[in-house]
Amino acid sequence: MNQVIDYQVATLVTTALGIRTSIAPEPAAAASRTATASQEEAEENLVSRPPVVVVLGHVDHGKTSLLDYIKSSRVADREIGAYQVEVDGNPITFLDTPGHAAFTAIRARGARVTDIAVLVVAADDGIMPQTLEAINHAKAAEVPIVVAINKMDLPGADPERVKRQLSENELLVEDWGGDIVSVNVSARTGEGINDLLENLELVAEIAELKANPDKQASGVVIEAKLDRKRGPSATILVTDGTLSVGDLIVAGAVSGRVRAMVDDKGKAVFSVTPGTPAEILGFGALPEAGDQLTVVANEREARTLIGGRDRAPGSRPLQSRALSLDEVVKQVDIGDIKEMTLVLKADVQGSLEAIRHSLGRLVDEDAKVRVLHTGVGAVTESDVLLASASEAVIISFSVGSEPSAERLSDRMGVEIRNYEIIYQLIDDIELALHGMLEPTM
Ligand code: GDP
Repeated sequence: MNQVIDYQVATLVTTALGIRTSIAPEPAAAASRTATASQEEAEENLVSRPPVVVVLGHVDHGKTSLLDYIKSSRVADREIGAYQVEVDGNPITFLDTPGHAAFTAIRARGARVTDIAVLVVAADDGIMPQTLEAINHAKAAEVPIVVAINKMDLPGADPERVKRQLSENELLVEDWGGDIVSVNVSARTGEGINDLLENLELVAEIAELKANPDKQASGVVIEAKLDRKRGPSATILVTDGTLSVGDLIVAGAVSGRVRAMVDDKGKAVFSVTPGTPAEILGFGALPEAGDQLTVVANEREARTLIGGRDRAPGSRPLQSRALSLDEVVKQVDIGDIKEMTLVLKADVQGSLEAIRHSLGRLVDEDAKVRVLHTGVGAVTESDVLLASASEAVIISFSVGSEPSAERLSDRMGVEIRNYEIIYQLIDDIELALHGMLEPTM
């Protein structure tokens, strides 16, 4: 009951319990939202863009070595979290963060970034637990897999065994009558790597990846770091439109103006097109990996996007009494809609996603929940400040609060509600939304 499951799984469970299920029709509001979100771009505006490739596989099977080999032969040594190489004049973008942890973190935050997953399997070791995990992650993301059977230079290399093991896990490579491309490589000698790159290019060609460069950019933060001299910098990947120096940007809870951009070769650039990574300077604070990047027209739009914090921070007088869950349900001007703002903290990313997902279902015509910020780990002072500035309530799920955050919340009158069970959390919020929550002592 603490997990979001898909309809098929739910049906299996309910059938076993003798319960029949059916899918409820989408509410009109949700349906129209989907329609605008997936609005098709006019074909004539679309141009090809480079594929974005992630390298997955079991630990020590050679993910880093493979990325390094590809990088060393083609780009200057610059660590920006992603890089591009050209194959027959066509660029391919590699995320330079091997392993599915990063891939899943980005995906868990709702970003669709990768087009192809390279599954690295050591030829002397075969399929291992993390290989299977990687396969499942790629399948869940509906990303095509290209297999790289690595360490072919080793005497114990047995690529046929790897292919057989893959077939036992529903991945049929071409030799086995399937359509999965598999290439024998060695990240040590470089054997087969050109062949791998050419195959990636082919898979990308079939996928017909396109984007419209003639509009305001959107993208995703791949990684971010604080540089003592230069301030916050982030590697971003533009997914649509063109990002230019001077653009006002918002990523997650952070805004800024693009002051400078540097490409993977260390060259200053003034604009970046879809499928291309760059390091950007100009954020006001550190964004997080997986944050969606959006270009906005003005400061006002930036504030609205971040969470409507129109008031200058700190301008609100300290309160003596906590704003309780049902008190934060506000009448929003437009059409009498009730809105509740939340800051969500949880033990793990999975819980956050599950809670968010369930909260999304509470939305109806006259009430909605706005999640201002989510994070893994204990409630911190900065969560309390954020909640206070936005008249939000903090919901913590299976995590506590730092003592300093607790003191601050008392002082500022911010309620922190702790839950251990998702459905109780959701129930309370639903009740509060409808003004029916029992007062707490
Ligand atoms: P990762 O954990 O998947 O990123 O694996 P690494 O790239 O760190 O590689 C693990 C070990 O395998 C290192 O000692 C590499 O030098 C070695 N290795 C990687 N690729 C090859 C290869 O093609 N041949 C041989 N002989 N060793 C390799």
